[in-house]
Amino acid sequence: MLVVMRHDASSDEIQGVVRAIEAMGYRARPMPGAQRTTVGLVGNDGRVEEGRLVGLDGVLRVIHVSQPYKQVSREWCPEDTVVELDNGARIGGEDVVIMAGPCAVESREQILESARRVAATGATVLRGGAFKPRTSPYSFQGLGEEGLQLLAEARDETGLAVVTEAIDSEGVALVAEYADIIQIGARNMQNYSLLRAAGRAGRPVLLKRGMSATIKELLLAAEYIVAEGEPRVILCERGVRNFDTHARNLFDLTAVVTVKELSHLPIIADPSHGTGARSKVGPMARASVAAGADGLIVEVHPDPTTAASDGAQSLTPDQFDELMTEVEQIARSLGRGVAQPAAVALSG
Ligand code: PEP
Ligand code: MN
Repeated sequence: MLVVMRHDASSDEIQGVVRAIEAMGYRARPMPGAQRTTVGLVGNDGRVEEGRLVGLDGVLRVIHVSQPYKQVSREWCPEDTVVELDNGARIGGEDVVIMAGPCAVESREQILESARRVAATGATVLRGGAFKPRTSPYSFQGLGEEGLQLLAEARDETGLAVVTEAIDSEGVALVAEYADIIQIGARNMQNYSLLRAAGRAGRPVLLKRGMSATIKELLLAAEYIVAEGEPRVILCERGVRNFDTHARNLFDLTAVVTVKELSHLPIIADPSHGTGARSKVGPMARASVAAGADGLIVEVHPDPTTAASDGAQSLTPDQFDELMTEVEQIARSLGRGVAQPAAVALSG
């Protein structure tokens, strides 16, 4: 439920609504907007006495949010959420944000080389898994904390922010110590204890769509994170299970458009996992930007032939450079730009 305040409501009147909601045993979330403040009532169990709110001073009206995902819905907040990072990148704003790097952190040389190359041509966020959720228990599982330390070193040198995955709730705090964004992978999209832990970690969260998840399930998973108090959620389309074998997944670009209609959260696209093949990554990356994605997350490896994971879908740094030139042109034709690397990277 949303309590919409009159445009001239005073802060005392807003506080009055907050107190009334809390007195009924619910949480209140005031959201100042361009025109007026709305106060969200969190935890509505269907027993809220609406009459106690509509009559309060400064209240314009009360709105019932019809979607099961409440706080992430457009009804809850008509304005786009913009997730701001310490290095100045703004995800969900005017500019398209590029996240790039290897599937996994493999060594100091590999991650530093990747970071330098992607920072030079348009990335503002470095990706790289330190904890890898692999389909087989015998595949490379990541370097663990050493991988996180190497990512932090790459951030210090290049000014790139770092996004890296937490694979279980016990590991969230450690990842949060090093990462600018905590990634929740497709295999864990409905791991509710992990979502809750990520929502309490004090970092923005990149939530990837589950392999067979509907968009509604994706938004409900995001709601778990926001309900814990973390509003900075970035959604990611990374393809869903496919009956065809031509691509690793069925890359669902309508998800980008649909999420924009249903939610105020930013959504980025992952054409690497979405297609599974290097030759298909560029075209789908370009299409994602054309479709209105707020950013891309792309796998880039200094030498994909030796990659410990996902080499077949990793671009070479040269291919990434070429793609960035194209993405920039597409973004510009739509009145957007590509977010520029942080000042530290330019001066470094
Ligand atoms: C990844 O980003 O490397 C990854 C494992 O992605 P997903 O969870 O989408 O499979
Ligand atoms: Mn990968």
